[in-house]
Amino acid sequence: MVHRPRRLRRTAALRDLVRETSLGPQDFILPLFVNEKISARRAIGSMPGVEQLAPNDVAGEAVRAAEAGLQAVILFGIPAEKDEQASGAYGEKGVVQQAVRTIKQECPELLVITDVCLCEYMSHGHCGVTRIDGDHFHVLNDESVELLVKTAVSHAAAGADFVAPSDMMDGRVGAIRDALDVAGYDQTAIMSYAAKFASAFYGPFREAAESPPQFGDRRSYQMDPGNAEEALREVALDVEEGADIILVKPALPYLDILRRVRERFGLTTAVYHVSGEYAMVKAAAERGWLDERQAVLEIMTGLKRAGANLIVTYWARELAEWTRR
Ligand SMILES: [Zn+2]
Repeated sequence: MVHRPRRLRRTAALRDLVRETSLGPQDFILPLFVNEKISARRAIGSMPGVEQLAPNDVAGEAVRAAEAGLQAVILFGIPAEKDEQASGAYGEKGVVQQAVRTIKQECPELLVITDVCLCEYMSHGHCGVTRIDGDHFHVLNDESVELLVKTAVSHAAAGADFVAPSDMMDGRVGAIRDALDVAGYDQTAIMSYAAKFASAFYGPFREAAESPPQFGDRRSYQMDPGNAEEALREVALDVEEGADIILVKPALPYLDILRRVRERFGLTTAVYHVSGEYAMVKAAAERGWLDERQAVLEIMTGLKRAGANLIVTYWARELAEWTRR
């Protein structure tokens, strides 16, 4: 026999030597949920181990993340008040704006990415401005983009390193890029949720971010899970409009998209391993059906192998520890 591939699998050192894909703390981005309405941490039932933070806890959490070896966090805000103009999203003293300032004070090196969307701030829970005609509702694109732009600029003014529009309105990346440049934030980068699918796996997040739509669903703006060519067109638009990093969401059911996006565009590509994907593994691990650490490392390796340069995950802190050399 000439070929014995098992020769290179014989010992841990050999396997280590020839491994094509390895993980490190710099691969992961930790989501943080900041809730203006609470004064102490609150557990999220469907996401064991993930908590909503009170505004006072944010800086400490950011320091912990940095000490664990993470380079970046992504912030989601839950405002005290919601309305039909999402005014909490772009207020100078909004929950995310304040959180960015505190993190940058305590931990200036840690990269702060802010989620830019309106759903947490809208009383109806949609990602944009809505109009209701009888039985139908519409999410108005250009009106929504105006508010998203205000939100992004206010995050940049607070010191965010990246703004991350997650709404899937048309033209928002270009509009945000223009407005940031005009306001003097030409160094604030954009990580765009370029291909975000209407997914069943967002369920637990809606509890975490208190953002379930009060009527209808998000299929008129998020993408249809059957469409890969359309995902590539969406990504192309965001790249053309000035996105610095592109993100695919969710992760495991969309590995083909991730691979094609990375290959076609060659830009830094991120993937969001979402709440439902997290909850599935957690639930199985709690029952003793899976080894959590091994399963998570395998999933993350798979995402990176498929083309992800960066992975947003609720296990980021644990992963930083597990993958430190
Ligand atoms: Zn949204």
